[in-house]
Amino acid sequence: MDSMIPEYLRAALVRDYGAALADEIAAGFVSRRPVTLRLNPLRGDTAETEALLREACPDPQPLSWYADARVLPGASEKDVEALPLYAEGRVYLQSLSAMLPALLMPLEPGMSVLDMCAAPGGKSTQLAALARGQIDLTCCERDSARAERLRHNLQTQGVRRCVVMNTDARQLDPLFRFDAVLLDAPCTGSGTILLGDGIPPRRMEPAWVQKTVKTQKALMKKAVSVLKPGGTLVYATCSVLREENEAVVQTALDAGLKLIPVPDALRGAVPALPVTIPGTMCVKPTELYEGFFAAALERPR
Ligand code: SAM
Repeated sequence: MDSMIPEYLRAALVRDYGAALADEIAAGFVSRRPVTLRLNPLRGDTAETEALLREACPDPQPLSWYADARVLPGASEKDVEALPLYAEGRVYLQSLSAMLPALLMPLEPGMSVLDMCAAPGGKSTQLAALARGQIDLTCCERDSARAERLRHNLQTQGVRRCVVMNTDARQLDPLFRFDAVLLDAPCTGSGTILLGDGIPPRRMEPAWVQKTVKTQKALMKKAVSVLKPGGTLVYATCSVLREENEAVVQTALDAGLKLIPVPDALRGAVPALPVTIPGTMCVKPTELYEGFFAAALERPR
């Protein structure tokens, strides 16, 4: 494994996956991944957007598991950000792995949906796009500068039925109830490490990981409490550490929620790591995918 990987992370990967898989994960901490984006159906016809995109970035690659996702080999984010179609909100730059959790949300017109940790809005705007704007979104974000960015992105992406709450989601009024909740939790980002730019990953110390896990569990507890009976909760992180993933999901299972297995078609389409709770999904970091975890849960009626 690369010597730039912090000692705690190296040990945790070996603990969770064994030495051979830990080496594979470390090999996925590449220096750079290709630019990927979503076409946004809330801002014009996506076929038209793709035609415009092709003028600047030849050969956008589609994916089997998501019709609106594209990989842009050879392009840079700056190239895309300079295009009028970017300023018009016709596309949203997003990693492929980050597009997965929203696909686990059952979205019906008229649903009330809470995105608990929403900024900068990648998944909020994706949820609205998947539902063709027909859901009522509450987007919660603790950091005020990031909440401002979230508002900007929601507006640019043409999301209308949404409110932004600049607050700590743990303090949400206990009277709130939602049909679906997305908890894209703050995490160590252990799945998104990019090596090779000479900057070692920061802050991967045990105390910080433990503090992060504590926050994740508190957020999960709140997510469970604001979910309507029959409602769906999706939990996601961009970490591959089991203490941030399966251990947090287990607290929701202990509270009585039932796991909704990730569809085989989706799990089979991405590079997967073994999981200790069958039906959850952990994406292995590769040259195309960031490390990522997602699980869907239902609150029994
Ligand atoms: N879902 C976002 C997206 O797809 O663009 C990314 C979310 S990022 C993983 C986690 C976010 O949670 C950060 O913006 C962070 O400021 C926010 N956050 C951290 N703790 C929070 C809390 N207790 N309540 C609400 N937001 C929180």
